[in-house]
Amino acid sequence: MKVEYIIVGIVLLLWILGDMYRRHKNRNKVICVVERNCTGCGRCVKRCTRHVLEKVKDETGIHLAVKYPDKCTACGDCIGKCKFEALKLTERK
Ligand code: SF4
Ligand code: SF4
Repeated sequence: MKVEYIIVGIVLLLWILGDMYRRHKNRNKVICVVERNCTGCGRCVKRCTRHVLEKVKDETGIHLAVKYPDKCTACGDCIGKCKFEALKLTERK
């Protein structure tokens, strides 16, 4: 077997193990919006493949809502997309 395949395999394995560790560590957590920081830009909504987040519009403007918290895996992908520190993981109640 070529050395390149072995290296790619090791990198892939480490990535999978790292992801599994992160999910295990965050298993009792859920995403939460820091409303005072949120601009309603929607970058996080597009990033979440589980469709947990949703933009809602009311008389005071556009806000972000955690629509389906039960579907949140606490992966943190949406946090990486927010430039305004408006998302954080908290303990599930
Ligand atoms: S990316 Fe940040 S600022 Fe934009 S909607 Fe999401 S939480 Fe709000
Ligand atoms: S932490 Fe992951 S699953 Fe939860 S809302 Fe963010 S991107 Fe979606």
